Amino acid sequence: MKNYGLFINGEWIQSKSGKTFETKNPADGQTLAVFQEGTQEDVGKAVDAAERTFPRWRKFPPPKRGEILLKAAAIMRERKEELGKMVTQEMGKVIAEGKGDVQEAIDFLEYISGEGRRLLGETTPSELPNKLYLTLKQPIGVVGCITPWNFPLAVPCWKLGAALITGNTIVFKPATLTPLCAATLVEIFHQAGLPAGVLNMVTGPAEVVGEAIVQHPNIRAVSFTGSVAAGKDIYAKASRMLKRVGLELGGKNPQIVMDDARIDLAVEGVLFGVFGTAGQRCTATSRLIVQEKVYDELLKNLLARTKALKVGDPLDSAVDVGPVASAEQETKILKYIQIGIEEGAERICGGNKLKGSPYDKGFFITPTIFGAQHGMRITREEIFGPVLSVMKVRDYEEAVKVANDVEYGLSSSIYTGSVNTAFRAMQDLEAGVTYINAPTIGAEVHLPFGGVKNTGNGAREAGTEAIHEFTEIKSVFIDFSGKLQKAQIVE
Ligand code: NAP
Repeated sequence: MKNYGLFINGEWIQSKSGKTFETKNPADGQTLAVFQEGTQEDVGKAVDAAERTFPRWRKFPPPKRGEILLKAAAIMRERKEELGKMVTQEMGKVIAEGKGDVQEAIDFLEYISGEGRRLLGETTPSELPNKLYLTLKQPIGVVGCITPWNFPLAVPCWKLGAALITGNTIVFKPATLTPLCAATLVEIFHQAGLPAGVLNMVTGPAEVVGEAIVQHPNIRAVSFTGSVAAGKDIYAKASRMLKRVGLELGGKNPQIVMDDARIDLAVEGVLFGVFGTAGQRCTATSRLIVQEKVYDELLKNLLARTKALKVGDPLDSAVDVGPVASAEQETKILKYIQIGIEEGAERICGGNKLKGSPYDKGFFITPTIFGAQHGMRITREEIFGPVLSVMKVRDYEEAVKVANDVEYGLSSSIYTGSVNTAFRAMQDLEAGVTYINAPTIGAEVHLPFGGVKNTGNGAREAGTEAIHEFTEIKSVFIDFSGKLQKAQIVE
C-alpha cells in the first residue's frame, strides 16, 4: 500500500502531526492509499515554498508554461485508462464517467495552455499627444486551491491549469475523500517539468488545512469549489483579509419539459442528468418540471427506464449507477429520502440502501424518483445523490417560476419544440448555464462555467473567463513626448 507525504517544494515530506488517513473505494471499502494529515505549520511551509518560487515562476515565459501543461495533458492521455480506473475506484462514478473526468482534465489543460500565447491586454490612445496606454495581465502571487471529491481530476485541473498558465504559485488542498487522484496529478505536473515549489499540496481535514489556507496572510487569493455552507465560511473569513475569492458552489438544477418537447429525448436527458455520477454532480438534474399534458406519458417512460438501470460495481462497463462516494454521503441522501416521505411526496421508485452481496461493503442507493410539490425541502435543498423530484406545471410561466424559486442558480435545461420558448428560457432561467434540448450536465471546457445566486460570487471557471480569477490587471501609461504632460490639467 502506497504511503504518500505532503508535496512541498518538489519533495514528498512527512507532516509532524504524525497522523494519517486512508482513502477507500466506496464500492467495496478497500483501502487504496495512506495520506498525511497536514497541519497549520505544514500549510506555512507550503506557502513559504510557493512564495520563494513566485519571482522565478512569474518571469517564466507563459508559452513555456503552456508547454508544461501540454506535456501534463499528454501524460494523462497516455495514462487515461489507468487514471479513469483510479477516479472510479476512489470516488465511485462508473468507469465511462471516470474516463470522462480524465478527458475533461486533458481538454482543459490543452485549452488553457493556449492562453500562454494570448494573455491579451488592451491598448488605447491617450488624451495627450505622444502617449500610449496598455494593460498587462499579471499573476496574483501565491493562491490557494481547495477542491471537492466529485470531479477529482477535472476540477483540480480547471483551477491549477488556470493558476499556472497565468504565473501564480499554488498551495493545493484536495478533498479528503480523493487525495490519490490529487497526488497522482501533482506527480504528473512535475513529470511534465513543473519547477519545484510552484505547486505544493497539503492533504488533511478542512478545519485544519482548509482553514489555514484561507487564513494565511500571504495567500492572496482562494479558489474554492464545494458546498454553499463551506463557501460562505471561506468568503466571510477571506474577505476580512481582502483576499480575492472565487466560489463555485452547489446546485438544485431543473429540467423543464414542455408539451411540445420530444419526450424520448427528454427521458434520455433526465436519466443521464439525475443518475449520472449517482447524482453527485453540481450540475445534476434534481428537479423535473413537466407541463401537465405530457406529465403522465413522460413519467411512465422515465419509470420504466429507471427501473432498468443497473446499480453495482462501477468498474463493470454494463453498470449504469455506481455507489455514492462515502458513508456520510449515503447517510445524508437517505436522510433526504426520509424527509421526502415525511413531507408527503409520493415515492414513485427507489429510495433504498442496497444490501447483501455485492453491495454490503459499499454505499449503494437505488435510483429514486419522487412525485413532489414545489416548496417541499426535497425540491429546494441540494441532496447530491440519485434522487429526482418530479413536479407538474400548467404552462411556461409557472415552469420558469418554479425553476427559479430556489437559492441556487448553476445549471438549467428546457426541452421544447418551440424556438420562441427556447429563446425566452435562455433569458428567463436564473442560472449560469442553460441547455436547450439537452440535460443539465455536459459542460465543455471552452465555455465559461459557474452559477448565479448562492451558487457562487460571480467568478467563472473554464473558457475565456478562467484566467480572470487568477490575474490582476495593470494599466501602463507610456509617455514618449519627452516632456511632462498632465492629464486632466488644462493650461
Ligand atoms: P465541501 O464539503 O464543501 O468540501 C469541498 C472542499 O473544501 C474539500 O476539500 C473540503 O475539505 C474543503 N472544505 C470544506 N469546508 C471548508 C472550510 N470551511 N474551509 C476550508 N476548506 C473547506 O464539498 P464536497 O462535499 O467536497 O463537494 C460537494 C459540493 O461541491 C456540492 O455542494 C457540489 O454542488 C459542489 N460542487 C460545485 C461545483 C461547481 O463548479 N459549482 C463543482 C463540483 C462540486 P475536506 O474534504 O477535508 O472536508
